[in-house]
Amino acid sequence: MSRYWSEVVHTLTPYVPGEQPKIADLTKLNTNENPYGPSPLALAAIQAEVSDNLKLYPDPNAERLKQAIADYHGVSTPQVFVGNGSDEVLAHVFLALLKHDRPILFPDITYSFYPVYCGLYGIAHETIALSDAFEIRTEDYRRPNGGIIFPNPNAPTGRLLPLQSIEALLNEHPDSVVVVDEAYIDFGGDSAVPLVARYPNLLVVQTLSKSRSLAGLRVGFAIGHPDLIQALTRVKDSFNSYPLDRMAIAGATAAMADREHFERTRQAVIRSRDELSAAMTQHGFEVIPSTANFIFARHPQHDAAALQKQLRERRIIVRHFALPRIDQYLRITVGTDAQCGLLVEALREILGD
Ligand SMILES: *Cc1c(COP(=O)(O)O)cnc(C)c1O
Repeated sequence: MSRYWSEVVHTLTPYVPGEQPKIADLTKLNTNENPYGPSPLALAAIQAEVSDNLKLYPDPNAERLKQAIADYHGVSTPQVFVGNGSDEVLAHVFLALLKHDRPILFPDITYSFYPVYCGLYGIAHETIALSDAFEIRTEDYRRPNGGIIFPNPNAPTGRLLPLQSIEALLNEHPDSVVVVDEAYIDFGGDSAVPLVARYPNLLVVQTLSKSRSLAGLRVGFAIGHPDLIQALTRVKDSFNSYPLDRMAIAGATAAMADREHFERTRQAVIRSRDELSAAMTQHGFEVIPSTANFIFARHPQHDAAALQKQLRERRIIVRHFALPRIDQYLRITVGTDAQCGLLVEALREILGD
């Protein structure tokens, strides 16, 4: 604690990201990165951008990238906002669209960055308990609120909320913005983007970090009614005019256009996820049905923290959250088939099966 700190800094509880270990040859299944690597076309576009041009500022509005996102999703560029990772997009969403007099609502088990933004911006929030099966029950959100936000599929559970339930929320809360954080939607769920045309209170947030394997490039975006996008742009231009550098704009634009690489790698992840879920079920785990690139599972006879530790001793890292209701679960990122094989083999040893 420093006497030079501003008052708000003393009150912050920052987000703690999953470990990025320095040790080589670990099987890293803890931060939901994509094991297949980015599109080669994206890498080439990034390399081509490394030139004397770096003396020039990038396009502050990344129009080229917005166009590629608009083309992919069948919307127009005034419906698209881009940012330095979807975490930055979300930060602007909290200030621009969720900071009102009433508390905002999100699930009790969800992305742990949401309460951090509430703390940063002084936004009151109420958490709504998921069902015992970790489902979002939209009827529980029927109360006065300044906005609603949740990931779909939810993190860290991997459970999907069907589009008809999202539509019910949008209809029941016409005076609130409903933010659907679709970080993992490409691994099997239906995106809410097609609803944007009919619901001016819907904002969909996506990232290139997971399904497009560009976590290191830091690009995320939001799609919604132009009025919502304008609010985000006003905040962005009061914060940083150039959140995306030239490499990020070039790489992300090429990645959005490379449908072949995207399709092939996401199908591979989906296949491996379903195989891993089946294998873990066979070893006695209870696996929450996942439409994400991770699975959330517990073993009725084995403590999750102990399992995490034993896996680590075998050079496999997975995520464990010491939080109410989920402290007996492990969140395991779906790796390549070889990585999933190592995990299942290690679990077989640990469990003595
Ligand atoms: C990974 C993740 C993000 C952030 O992604 P970035 O674009 O890398 O900042 C946002 N929301 C959820 C639910 C995530 O899991």
